[in-house]
Parts: sequence; structure tokens; C-alpha cells
Amino acid sequence: MEGLMMNYPLTTNTILEYGNRVFHHKKIITYLPDGTRHEYTFGAMYHRCKKLANALTNKLDINKGDMVGTFAWNHGPHVELYYGVPGIGAICHTINIRLSSHQTEYIINHSEDKVIFVDATLVPLLEKIAPLLETVEHYVLINSPANFKTTLPNTLNYEDLLAEQSENFEWPLLDENDASGMCYTSGTTGLPKGALYSHRATYLHAATIISPNAANFCSQDTALLIVPQFHVMAWGFPYLCLMSGTNMVMPSSNLQPEALIKILEKEKINKANGVPSIWMGIYQAMKKNPPTEKLTLQEYLVGGSALPASLIEAFEKDFGIKGIHAWGMTETSPLGTACRLQSKHEQLSYSEKLKIRAKQGISFPGLELRVIKEDGSLAARDGKSMGELHIKGAWVISSYFKTNNQENFTDDGWFKTGDVCTIDQDGYMEITDRTKDLIKSGGEWISSVALESALMSHPKIREAAVIAVPNKKWAERPLAAIVVADNQDKPSVDNLIEFLSKDFAKYQVPTNYVFISEVPKTSVGKFDKKVLRKQFAEGKLK
Ligand code: AMP
Repeated sequence: MEGLMMNYPLTTNTILEYGNRVFHHKKIITYLPDGTRHEYTFGAMYHRCKKLANALTNKLDINKGDMVGTFAWNHGPHVELYYGVPGIGAICHTINIRLSSHQTEYIINHSEDKVIFVDATLVPLLEKIAPLLETVEHYVLINSPANFKTTLPNTLNYEDLLAEQSENFEWPLLDENDASGMCYTSGTTGLPKGALYSHRATYLHAATIISPNAANFCSQDTALLIVPQFHVMAWGFPYLCLMSGTNMVMPSSNLQPEALIKILEKEKINKANGVPSIWMGIYQAMKKNPPTEKLTLQEYLVGGSALPASLIEAFEKDFGIKGIHAWGMTETSPLGTACRLQSKHEQLSYSEKLKIRAKQGISFPGLELRVIKEDGSLAARDGKSMGELHIKGAWVISSYFKTNNQENFTDDGWFKTGDVCTIDQDGYMEITDRTKDLIKSGGEWISSVALESALMSHPKIREAAVIAVPNKKWAERPLAAIVVADNQDKPSVDNLIEFLSKDFAKYQVPTNYVFISEVPKTSVGKFDKKVLRKQFAEGKLK
């Protein structure tokens, strides 16, 4: 028997309409690439979304199911695209501005973008590949100064485009399972793959992430959205801000630690997100030049790569700001877990609590996790049994865009993440590695993430990345690539071995160390171990 409830499609339009109806006075503040500040309300943004919908339909000939690319920083117009494009049934395809020209060309041709909305400051990146783009009919320039010159063909100006449109537009009735957005993986192995999000997944992800167990957003908050809109829909934050009435502050390209600290101070931000390297940079800058007044920032949500316990502790002890660890993937919309303590943890010591807080956390309602061991059996939830993390749920992809390749999916309906982890009796998941980054030495697994986290708590170390290097006797041994902290001398190898020996078994402790000026990073700021392996591991048998 079917329930007798209304069929009310969960779409981005319902989020936009709600945000305008209930929180129209809330603000979107943008720091533009030239440093100028722009402020408007959710209500004003709503009217511009309607103008955009008219422009897409009447001027740019965008229809239901068409791909609309964005190549832009975090700012108000990009939020308008997050709503205006799916609002008419088209797909908002956010293109990562940090990929190589070859990958960008591949992604645009593969997705068949009909129009690309591009920031003026990023135009040179597209000019290089424009002759190779097969489906793009128009480029719409955002934030472009008067007399801006470009070799891109068929350009329009975003503001002019909106100015000539009416604010009256009736959203078409959409099915909640229609596609709303798309993001390609960052392609660290092979070509990038498209994750095609639906309205329903986007809605459910945002509604769930608002909760106090996750991002913990409400209408008294002001959030700084550092995670780029060009990567996994900025973790869905532009959607959850409208749902929760949280003021949104967008930094565009002002991503240097000093610039971000200024914005945190000026806008009285209390919540923020970002990858660990951003927060490491902010911490170091604050240490060097402590703010004159205590920041209003209460907590920052971190994911993308592991948040070291040492950074959580240092930020909290020095500045009273809490780091909240989270995990996710492009394929999971992206957030899958977040780590907050529960009442049962209250009696634990600070270091015991810290140990839990450095885990990636518990999953959200609407998702399920399991860990599958090397022999194919289910790992026990004991915090020790390690295996590959599988996930399923309402905002996990069921296949990649335009491919029949199902190698990442199991026959019983799970997505294989490629992450290696444990889950403890309370459901707290801890990533120990990517499957391809694990080190197997003399038949025993060694976690590169655990070693990195420990090394980064050493006072003389800023960054540490650990990779496997071939070894005649043990098959593989760990090698640690170390970046020395500012104004510190190089720690000795003996000192590092002694430091690690406190927490690791002898076979786990690296004896190979190299000192480098910076750990190479991927387009989204993660350690790029592929580059390190090329540099230090390939062809060398020790
Ligand atoms: P992406 O699709 O680019 O967002 O990358 C997803 C991958 O990033 C995951 O499969 C993990 O390997 C890694 N990742 C994300 N969050 C974390 C985290 N909190 N700790 C460790 N690795 C993470």
C-alpha cells in the first residue's frame, strides 16, 4: 500500500524558493579577485536567478538536459549558476580550474558543454584550448572589466546578459531524479570521470549535512566557503546555506592565509570549511602574526585529506578554534562522514578524545559503510580490522557519466571507494590509506597516513608525505619526504626514527628520509604521491 503523502519533488528549486521565502534578508558577501567587497541578499540573488533562467532559455538556447559549464571562483554569480542552471532542468557542470589543459579539454568535450560561464581572470586558461572545444557555442564572461579583450569566440557579458532579462520566470516542474550538477574526479589515476548528481541527491545531502552531527549550520551563522565551487559543488555548502539561513562569504581567488584571516576577522565568520593545507597555512600565519582580537571563528570543517591530530590540538590550544574532521569523495556528493564526539566520550582524557577526533568519523543517515578485507570477507567493527571502504546511499553515484565500466561497483550494490580504513565499535571510520598508497613490507601493511600524521606533529616538520619504495629484502619499505618547518633546522634521521619509535613498531618506522622544499599537490590541494613516487621510488631497488 502506498502512503498517502504529497509527491513534493526534492529539487534545487525548492531550496532556492525556501531560501528566498524565509531568509531573503540573509547575505552573500564576495571578495572579488581584485579584493573589492560585494554584498547582496538571498532575495536579490533569487531575482537574478530568475533573470539567468530567462537568459539561458531565451538567449542561449539551453534546454532540459543540456550541459552548462562553469569555470569560476567562489562568488555570488557562481551561486546563481548553482540554482539558475538546474532550475530550468539543465546541468551545472563545474569545471576544475586547476586541471591540466589536456584534462580540461577532455572534460569539456566529454560532457558536451554548450555554454561556459568563465571568470575574466581565468579566461587565459580557456583561450589556450578553445579551438579544440567541440560543443561550446558561447562563453559568458563573469566579473569582466569594460573593454576586456579575449580571443574566445562568441562571448557575452554576464551582467549585460542579466540586465536585459525579466525577473519573471516560472520554474518548470522537474523530477527529483533529474540530473542537476556534474563534477569530474580530479583524475590522479587515468582520465577524470564524471559524477552526475541528481536534484534529490543534492537536496538530501544538503539537508543532512546541516545537522549538528555534521556541519552544524543554522540561521545565526556566517560561513566562509573556502572549498572551491569548482570541486564537488563546494561540498554542497551553497545549498545548505540557503536551507539553513547561514550568511555565505565567498573568497573568490583570495586564498592566501593572510587574505583569509582578514576576511575571517572583518566578516565575523563563525563557521568555515577547507582542506587541511589551507588550515595549516592559516594556523602558521596566525602563529606568526596573532590577531589582535580573538577570532569569532568557532570551528572549521576539514576534509579532502587527513586532518592531523597535531593541527587540531595546536589550533584549539593556541586559538580556541575547533577542527572538525570529515571525509568524502566526488562520487559521494561529497560528504560521507564527519567526526564529532558524543556524550559517552565526555569522561575521556583530552588525548583520548583527540585520538577519536582525528578519525574521519561516523556516517550520516541515508548512507551505509562497510569494510571488506583482502580475502573478501567483512571486517569486524573493532577499530583494528582493515580493508577497503565500501559505501552506498542516497547521494552516492550508481555509475560514472557516459561509461559502462562497473569496476568500482560490487554486484550487491556498493561503491568501492579505494580507501583503506577501519571502523570501530561505535561506527567511527579511520582512513589508513588509499589502496594504491598502502605499503606492504615483509608481508605486513604499513599505513602511510598514520606515519604522515605522526611526522607532522614533530615541531621541526611542516609537511610529511610517506610512499612505498621497492626493497629487495622486504618488497617495499616506507620513504618519508619531509618539509622542514619555517625557521627550524633539519631534524636528524636518528631523531626522526626515535620520535616515531614511540608509537610505531620497528618494521613500520621508515629508515629512508628525503628533505624537500614542498610536497607536490594535486589540483585540489592533496599530496600528489604519484609525483613523489616518480621522483623517489621508480626503478630504485634498495
Ligand atoms: P575527491 O574525489 O577528489 O574529493 O577525493 C576523494 C578522496 O580523498 C577519498 O577517496 C580519500 O582518499 C581522500 N579523502 C577525502 N577526505 C579525507 C580525509 N578526511 N582523510 C583522508 N583522506 C580523505
